[in-house]
Amino acid sequence: ATARNAGGGGMNVAGLRADFPALHQEIHGKPLVYLDNAATTHKPRAVLDALDRFHRRDNSNVHRGVHTLSQRATDSYEGARQQIAQFLGGQTDEIVFVRGATEAINLVANAFLRPRLQPGDEVLVTAMEHHANIVPWQLACDATGAQLRVAPMSQAGELLLDELEALLTDRTKLLALTHVSNALGTVNPVAQIAEMAHAHGVPVLVDGAQAVQHMPVDVTQLGVDFYALSGHKLYGPTGIGVLWARSEHLEAMAPWQGGGDMIRSVTFEKTEFAPPPLRFEAGTPHIAGAIGLGAAVEYLSGIGLEAIAAHESDLLAAATDAVAAIDGVRLIGTAAQKASVLSFVVEGVHPHDIGTVLDRNGIAVRTGHHCAQPVMAFYGVPATVRASFALYNYRAEIEPLCTALHEAQDLFA
Ligand code: PLP
Repeated sequence: ATARNAGGGGMNVAGLRADFPALHQEIHGKPLVYLDNAATTHKPRAVLDALDRFHRRDNSNVHRGVHTLSQRATDSYEGARQQIAQFLGGQTDEIVFVRGATEAINLVANAFLRPRLQPGDEVLVTAMEHHANIVPWQLACDATGAQLRVAPMSQAGELLLDELEALLTDRTKLLALTHVSNALGTVNPVAQIAEMAHAHGVPVLVDGAQAVQHMPVDVTQLGVDFYALSGHKLYGPTGIGVLWARSEHLEAMAPWQGGGDMIRSVTFEKTEFAPPPLRFEAGTPHIAGAIGLGAAVEYLSGIGLEAIAAHESDLLAAATDAVAAIDGVRLIGTAAQKASVLSFVVEGVHPHDIGTVLDRNGIAVRTGHHCAQPVMAFYGVPATVRASFALYNYRAEIEPLCTALHEAQDLFA
């Protein structure tokens, strides 16, 4: 690799880019610069090959057949569960396969929280949550007469920990917070917050959708109760995600959805449920997706999350300096601890116009409210431009971004 392509963690980024076929294309005659990784990441060959191998060779349903293909499918599916448990530092039977972070949170809201909520109880979230970590709790509160409370943040986009702690009372039945904010990039001190919440007897759900791809995460070390993630943001397929939960919680939870595979025995009078995690995986699961996600975490572990974190932090610092130096740019989210997200607005130019000019230059960014409308309201903006970085981005992509931002200003400001 050239020095330009060497990452801050000493990663051979040029070499790694070769693993991602979708990166090597032109958009409107320009090389693709993909900076929409917080929305979804591209997939390495290891994942594409695992999906292809499953469909071409092993395709079968899991947990049902005694025939060879079904056993292969079951072994691969359950093997992926082990890989993910290892990746997250949990036990294999604490890994529930779901559709994504959204479904993981809805599962906890419905199967864990809702039966425990009484009128007057409270659920605490933070001011920087994605809608996926607000609406399921709101629905549970509305159905039970409980109340949603919101822990505030500073203008920099950092949680105000004293105020958060003051909101933890004996009425609080759960604290749900994001590990990394998708709109601001803030990395929250989750271990410290979990300790604080537990001191008040409050269980903690962490939305890890924007964290696991950027830094080593060990759910046991974090000391949380629930951890949700989406496969497609972690270099894996869409339609697959994970809920990790402490086994004592899973054991105590009744099913949310009923159907095949989640039972021990069924009569018309009574059904006995399977133990976790299968109790929460009704119906044919996304077998290929789980296998693809297993391949993704193996790929990432091969590179090393520490190296990825160092590389992305180097890139974020360089991009922040370059973009902040442009006249009229206002950064949204300036926390001391940030991961891979650069959100900003440009005076006099609507974010969507910026997005269009960038796209004409082959640059993919996200413009909009990022499913975090309360965050936009807090900063008094309708939308931001968000450039978000992955392991395969490199410094040479920052200059075209800045050039295209100047072009948007020339056209619209
Ligand atoms: N939580 C955060 C912080 C996110 O960024 C996202 C997706 O953007 C989600 C949850 C929801 O993820 P999914 O749509 O994959 O379920």
